[in-house]
Amino acid sequence: METIRERIARILREAERPLTAYEIALRLGMDPRAEREIYTHIAHLAKSVRRRSGGREFVVMFPPRCRNCGYVFRDIDRPRRPSRCPSCRSTRIMPPMFMIASRQTHKR
Ligand SMILES: [Zn+2]
Repeated sequence: METIRERIARILREAERPLTAYEIALRLGMDPRAEREIYTHIAHLAKSVRRRSGGREFVVMFPPRCRNCGYVFRDIDRPRRPSRCPSCRSTRIMPPMFMIASRQTHKR
């Protein structure tokens, strides 16, 4: 039996492109409004994926972006959807997207 975090990890590994929390919730068969819960899982997942793979695999977050002016929320430290753009005050924010990437291990 997979835990919800293992399922999220599998969804992100198998995804053909980065996914939003909304899309992840849908793929889990969860209410897509459970976005906040998904963000919490991803924050924990990011640590466990990196640890379990010895740093070879990691969760990538594409930061949220303002649909109105294009402002990118580069400094957010944890997965979330900001409510308002600090630059133009718009609330039309494109949520963060996630994927799991892996780096090749090189022998030096
Ligand atoms: Zn803006």
